[in-house]
Amino acid sequence: MESRILDGKWVRDQIFEELKPRIERLPRRPGLAVILVGHNPASEIYVRGKVKACADLGLYSEKITPPEDISTGDLLGIIMGLNERPEIDGILVQTPLPKQVDTRRVLIAVAPEKDVDGFHPYNVGCLVANLPAPRACTPAGIIEMLRRYEIPVAGKHAVVIGRSDIVGKPVALLLLHEHATVTICHSRTSNLAEEARRADILVAAIGRPSFVTADFIKPGATVIDVGQNRIGTGKGSLFGDVNAEDALKIAGAYTPVPGGVGPLTIAMLMSNTVQAAERRQCSG
Ligand code: NAP
Repeated sequence: MESRILDGKWVRDQIFEELKPRIERLPRRPGLAVILVGHNPASEIYVRGKVKACADLGLYSEKITPPEDISTGDLLGIIMGLNERPEIDGILVQTPLPKQVDTRRVLIAVAPEKDVDGFHPYNVGCLVANLPAPRACTPAGIIEMLRRYEIPVAGKHAVVIGRSDIVGKPVALLLLHEHATVTICHSRTSNLAEEARRADILVAAIGRPSFVTADFIKPGATVIDVGQNRIGTGKGSLFGDVNAEDALKIAGAYTPVPGGVGPLTIAMLMSNTVQAAERRQCSG
């Protein structure tokens, strides 16, 4: 039997519909500032998608495009300015940043209550402690996908391949908070395929096209493919970390690339921005 396709656009549309009345109830429309340094083509595509989503939902957005050779100090100055502006509820610094910029200092400079990417150490601490705070968008989107397709997580064995700060680690923690038994794998893991094959829920966040093949997948497992690997340009140039043919044959449910996890990252960014606006505009 072919596996069930988990449709990220369907989930994104639901999230957007739920956000609309919340946006209407706010005293003023939520504002998102996006900082895009230089001309990284992939980053430009992502930022375009984020700005378009703001327009679709009626959010205010502001794109700030400093030059490639900006210094850490000048970028910190831009962030400090945005931290002070009352009409800006969320600040997103598109990564990767150029080599001369100290990314860590930049991400720490964003006010935690405006950190809609959930990357600030304060918000990461809240994630670890399972306290309310903005969560990293892609991991939060994966949890939404599982929830809305009613895929059980509690008591299941989840295996996450990848331990990055933006996907692997936060998704592992979120799955743990949902009461999964979680294994985190990485480039030094021994017997990787064997570990992966024990998963009821397998999350691949590696950055290597079609790395996860038939021998990694337990029959009937839910396979979440986070990979966004671009080979060439144009339509059909985006590949996941999972071999799609193998997943379709063996998995019980599978998020395709494109159209799976991708749309949820933007949906959760919008959700985090609205939530930040609600906290800022409706408190006190
Ligand atoms: P990353 O920072 O490069 O991390 C990759 C992880 O994969 C690392 O932990 C690395 O292990 C592990 N890894 C690499 N090669 C491996 C191997 N041969 N065996 C086992 N583990 C291996 O990447 P990332 O930022 O997490 O992104 C991962 C993928 O998700 C990329 O394709 C990225 O484009 C995609 N992504 C998609 C979205 C979305 O919106 N859908 C959002 C973010 C990222 P070590 O730690 O040991 O090096």
